[in-house]
Amino acid sequence: MSVTESAPKGVIPAHLLRGQKALVTGANSGIGMATAIGLGRAGADVVVNYVAGREDAEKVVEEITSLGVRAAAYEADVSQEDQVVAMMDWMVREFGTIDILVANAGLQRDATIMEMTLAQWQKVLDVNLTGQFLCAREATKEFVRRGVVPEVSRAAGKIICMSSVHQIIPWSGHVNYASSKGGVLMMMQTLAQELAPKKIRVNAVAPGAIRTPINRSAWETPEAERDLLQLIPYGRVGDPEDVAHAVVALASDLLDYVVGATLYVDGGMTLFPGFATGG
Ligand code: NAD
Repeated sequence: MSVTESAPKGVIPAHLLRGQKALVTGANSGIGMATAIGLGRAGADVVVNYVAGREDAEKVVEEITSLGVRAAAYEADVSQEDQVVAMMDWMVREFGTIDILVANAGLQRDATIMEMTLAQWQKVLDVNLTGQFLCAREATKEFVRRGVVPEVSRAAGKIICMSSVHQIIPWSGHVNYASSKGGVLMMMQTLAQELAPKKIRVNAVAPGAIRTPINRSAWETPEAERDLLQLIPYGRVGDPEDVAHAVVALASDLLDYVVGATLYVDGGMTLFPGFATGG
């Protein structure tokens, strides 16, 4: 397969999530944007959270609305408790409830351990881990209040945590990021265990290398992309839609019996490709 060949777009069944209300954090860029649009294609109404870049968020809203479902943009910093509480209150007021939370917002502040400031460490933990905790907590309150509505979904709610292959692959020069995603793994599994009896399904999607602004330097030049492909047995860099499709599937009743799982969307990156010839 050519490295420039884009991912097969696939077809999302238009009624898979009909009547469901979804919140995607960090949905004005990259994976979050593709996921918000993917959920809209599947028939969900979508709240497009953003922290900066209202114009991009409005474009996503426009695209989702053109699919015949409802969408709205909401500005909130997921690492700020009061803002997350206000966002969820607003969503329940405006959209009636929430059925699907995609805790996607994330960032990197890279440095070697000796160079890394406490502010860099803290910022990444605050957004990538605490942000997911706050959103999951507030969504859970509404899932429990409302309970299962069988015509809408078999579950009372679905939480999908955007993790990374770095929840299990150590990553030199990124100790804050890898630690945050390692934390997401244990948070997701613990919440899945705690909330399954309440019919709330908590799962994670762990992307490998996906072509988005967060990792531009890793795929921007042909040399960088060639190096990156050494780590990907499937021979292509992922597209945001690859991740969006995984989220849509996990959010749907097709995967109703999947609880506490991580779906790696990584072209085989977690298969230790260096061992294909070595070891
Ligand atoms: P991106 O930079 O395009 O998107 C990140 C989004 O999060 C942006 O919209 C940004 O504004 C938002 N965000 C940052 N801080 C926020 C805050 N405090 N509150 C609300 N929103 C905030 O990058 P992406 O690649 O689309 O990343 C999305 C998620 O996927 C992240 O959690 C990232 O760790 C994860 N991920 C990405 C890759 C990849 O290869 N691109 C791989 C593994 C995991």
